[in-house]
Amino acid sequence: MLSDIAISVKNLKKVYSTNNQEKKTALDNVSLNINKGTIFGLLGPNGAGKSTFINILADLVKKTSGQIEVLGINHEKNLKEVKKLMGIVPQELNIDPFFTPYELLEIQAGLFGVPKKERRTEEILKLLSLEDKSHAYARTLSGGMRRRLLIAKAMVHDPDILILDEPTAGVDVELRANLWGNIYKLNEQGKTIIITTHYLQEAEELCNEIAIIDKGNLIAKDTTLNIKSLIDKRQIIILFDNTNFDIEPILKLNIEHKLCKDNLVISYKPSEITFNKILEALKLSDIKIKDLKINETKLEDVFLKLTKN
Ligand code: ADP
Ligand code: MG
Repeated sequence: MLSDIAISVKNLKKVYSTNNQEKKTALDNVSLNINKGTIFGLLGPNGAGKSTFINILADLVKKTSGQIEVLGINHEKNLKEVKKLMGIVPQELNIDPFFTPYELLEIQAGLFGVPKKERRTEEILKLLSLEDKSHAYARTLSGGMRRRLLIAKAMVHDPDILILDEPTAGVDVELRANLWGNIYKLNEQGKTIIITTHYLQEAEELCNEIAIIDKGNLIAKDTTLNIKSLIDKRQIIILFDNTNFDIEPILKLNIEHKLCKDNLVISYKPSEITFNKILEALKLSDIKIKDLKINETKLEDVFLKLTKN
C-alpha cells in the first residue's frame, strides 16, 4: 500500500492574473488531506475556488505554489504517473457529438495507452447504466446520460481516485438519484470519490467527509457528522399521552423548553448538556412518551453560519 491518504495538499495557492493586471487569489494556502476510500465533498459558495482546486489536480490550471501528493506520489515531479491514478470529470459537459459512447471510451483508453486486451469498455458502460446507448450518437444523449458518459470516460484507465466537479449540476432529480447510485457503486468497489457540489442536502447524504472553502480559504474539514455538530443546538419534540407527569425534573435541567397540550419541545446545547441527562429527567418526570422526534442540524445551517461574512 502506498499511503492511507488519497490526496494530500499543503499550502496550495493560486493567484490568477486577470486581463487588467489585477490579481485574484482563488486559493489561499489551502492544506488538507483526503483519506482513501472515502466519499469526500468539497463545498463552497460560487467562486470559492472549488473548480480551481480540481483543475490544478487535473493539470488544467497551474498552481502558484504549494505541494500536492497523490497516493504519496509528488504531483509536480511525477505528473504522468499521478494522472494515471486519477479520473477527473470537469464541470463542463463537453462531449464530441459525432461519436458513440463506445467509441469515445475506446478513444480515451487509447489516449491513456490502455492495451486493447485490458480495456473494459462494455463493463464500464454497464456500470454507468449506459449499455443501451453504447452505439447511439452522443448528441442524442440526455444531460444525465452525458454526465454519466463523462464519468465513464474518466474511468477507462481504472483510476483509484475519481474526482467530479459539480456532477449533478443541471441534472434532474430522478437522474441525480440514479447518478448517485452509480457513484456509490464505484465507492463500494474501492474507489476514493471526491466531488464538489453546492447541493448541500446531497453532500450531507452522500459524503463521509466534508471540507468547506470560502473565498479561497479552508474554513472547515471533518467528518460530515462532526461538521454538523459545529452548530451547538439541538431540538427534541416529545409527544406525550399523559398530562399528570411531573415537570419539575425537566425544569431542573435549566434548559429552554415549551410545554403545549400534547407535546413538549426541548432545545439544548449538546456542549452543555448530554442527551442522556435529558432522557433521565424525562424518566423521572414519568412522562408517557408517545413519540419522540429529534430535529437534526442540517448541513445547510452550518454552511450558512460558516460562510457568512
Ligand atoms: P468555484 O468553482 O468554487 O465556483 P472557481 O475555482 O471557479 O470557483 O473560481 C474561484 C475564483 O477564481 C473566482 O473568483 C473566479 O472568478 C476566479 N477565477 C477562476 N478562473 C479564473 C481565471 N481563469 N482567471 C481569473 N480568475 C479566475
Ligand atoms: Mg466551479
